[in-house]
Amino acid sequence: MSGIVFIISAPSGSGKTSLTNELLKFVPDLEFSVSYTTRKPRGSEQNGREYSFVSREEFERMIANDEFLEYADVFGNYYGTARRFLQDAKNRGKDLVLDIDVQGAKQVKERLPDSVSIFILPPSRDELERRLRARSSAEQMTDTRVINRRLAEAGREIENYPGYDYILVNDDFNQSVDRLKAIVQAVRNQRKPGASHADLVLEAKADECRRRNVQERAQQILASFGLSAVPN
Ligand code: 5GP
Repeated sequence: MSGIVFIISAPSGSGKTSLTNELLKFVPDLEFSVSYTTRKPRGSEQNGREYSFVSREEFERMIANDEFLEYADVFGNYYGTARRFLQDAKNRGKDLVLDIDVQGAKQVKERLPDSVSIFILPPSRDELERRLRARSSAEQMTDTRVINRRLAEAGREIENYPGYDYILVNDDFNQSVDRLKAIVQAVRNQRKPGASHADLVLEAKADECRRRNVQERAQQILASFGLSAVPN
């Protein structure tokens, strides 16, 4: 079975891009869905690789033509997943990874109930702050207001974790890559026609990230952001 859609969401600074890149490097027949955005390219980003960069007018034309599976306004810019991308991947026998925000994830889950959603959580607010500071000092952009805004945004996004199928707490990079790979492979195995013998080690590793098994830890992380528990 191909054409499985894996949605990955996470607040900025939680390591999502590095984890996704590592996943794509090691898992065959898995492709990255290149979103359309109206934001400007950053750093070494290339048109058609990280994003397809388009004008607002072009994006709005695509909305009017119903070309998006989902789209959202994230921090003042449009971001969207083209339906065409999904169909192309499926035709070529590939599964797809969507790196999209919580609004987009909700839309995809509604339209494609078989999609698999994964939320990456930072270990705590302090650790996320440390990572955001390290990253912004590397980019020579140590603006405390920006960091505080990102931390507040992170808190708001994190509250959405109960809507996801799997929750990955990114304490340790290699362990997280391992778990991410296990989730993809376990889902693929389960959906293979006539799947008979499950890979128990893989299943167990993926299962560790099931919402019910991460609940307690996730609530502690929410508490570190000063947020109260959300119903699971
Ligand atoms: P950035 O501008 O930092 O690359 O991404 C900002 C946010 O937009 C991230 O949370 C990212 O997951 C999200 N995003 C990227 N592409 C899409 C998309 O196609 N749709 C939606 N809804 N969000 C997206």
